[in-house]
Amino acid sequence: MHSITREIIKSKFSINEEIISLAESVTQEVSEVFEKVNDIVECNQLKVTAAMVENSLSDFHLNDSTGYGYNDVGLETIEAVFSHVFGAEDALVRPQIVSGTHAITLCLFGVLRPGDELLSVTGDPYDTLKDVILGENTGSLKDYNINYSQVELKNGKPDFEKIREKITAKTKMVLIQRSKGYSLRPTLDIDSIKELIEYIKAINENIVCLVDNCYGEFTETKEPTEVGADLCAGSLIKNPGGGIAPTGGYVVGKRELVERCAYRLYAPGLGKNCGPSLNFNRLALQGLFYSPMVVGEALKGSIFISRFFERAGFKVHPSYNEKRSDIVTAIEMGDKESLIAFCRGLQKAGPVDAHITPEPWGMPGYAHQVIMAGGSFIQGASIELSADAPIREPYVVYIQGGINFFHIKLGAMSALQNMIDEGVYKVKTF
Ligand SMILES: *Cc1c(COP(=O)(O)O)cnc(C)c1O
Repeated sequence: MHSITREIIKSKFSINEEIISLAESVTQEVSEVFEKVNDIVECNQLKVTAAMVENSLSDFHLNDSTGYGYNDVGLETIEAVFSHVFGAEDALVRPQIVSGTHAITLCLFGVLRPGDELLSVTGDPYDTLKDVILGENTGSLKDYNINYSQVELKNGKPDFEKIREKITAKTKMVLIQRSKGYSLRPTLDIDSIKELIEYIKAINENIVCLVDNCYGEFTETKEPTEVGADLCAGSLIKNPGGGIAPTGGYVVGKRELVERCAYRLYAPGLGKNCGPSLNFNRLALQGLFYSPMVVGEALKGSIFISRFFERAGFKVHPSYNEKRSDIVTAIEMGDKESLIAFCRGLQKAGPVDAHITPEPWGMPGYAHQVIMAGGSFIQGASIELSADAPIREPYVVYIQGGINFFHIKLGAMSALQNMIDEGVYKVKTF
């Protein structure tokens, strides 16, 4: 580390020598693992570039439509490029899809009909989907008489036998969540997703396999739609927007199913033909182009964070040298005060709103209070360095994103320093 760097960390961010030395030692320790990340970045960068070349992406595609949004050749090209990258028949990539929850909701309501059954084969779905599936008098799946059941993971892996038992003639769709969400279970990698889909299709090939791909994009060299998923959805303010897309979500998969999602997003009969791109097209395309590199930085940051906090005495998931299939790192904080101090420390290193003190709040869609830290340029963007946690036992903080490895490293140091400053971190020898 350059002496000027050290000086900035100490004087501008008030981080002590011991923590800086720990960070330096950890950086050396993890550098070997970075080689593997570089190979993944290269592969995905070329995949994205090839898709743009093959679809003759041109300057005029970067312009936007207004009003109804008819004949938006920019959006058509974005969707062709996404289809290509994800190895899917079709894609719906829109600024009108506001989040990952919204994208997955389109898949659920687009495909399922009254009397059908949805089966989650990876245990609890992500927190915000619980209202979508089981809410009372909210227009949830339940309100439409669409049944739901789930099979818990067994030792962190799909429980194949139980899945076979739970599948009935009414099972129309299976939900597979790749990333861990707010839980400590391992992330499902692409090979496991492939095995799971093959197993389900062998029972009944007509079951629609939907993958919640949030935080998983470009962390491996294949995407779920390349290994058999019928539908796959995610958010553009996570991985595939590269920190550039200002909003948006995507759905990729079988043409007929994607069309149904578009009918749900706009109106039956209208579908993909409408929807103005407003200021979306250039930023979505540029974001997709940056995404493999940015996800690589986030992965390197995650690897660093795992080792850094492991060395500081915490339990982390996954460990720095385990295979990753998402950009999320979970750290067991043990109590509420430590969790809050961690988030506040991370916030202090954000490029935006570093002077703001995060507080737990009742975020829409979440059953528990949630604390979120992240001085992001795009509101709530978690491809930018961010940490969040439901205020509930076992007080685990989930850290994700980071546009740049060196900034993530600073964030980690700042989080630990703040825990020391607030008197909640006792261990002193690393
Ligand atoms: C973030 C996330 C979602 C929801 O995405 P939002 O954009 O926050 O609505 C769904 N599933 C998983 C696994 C996630 O990590």
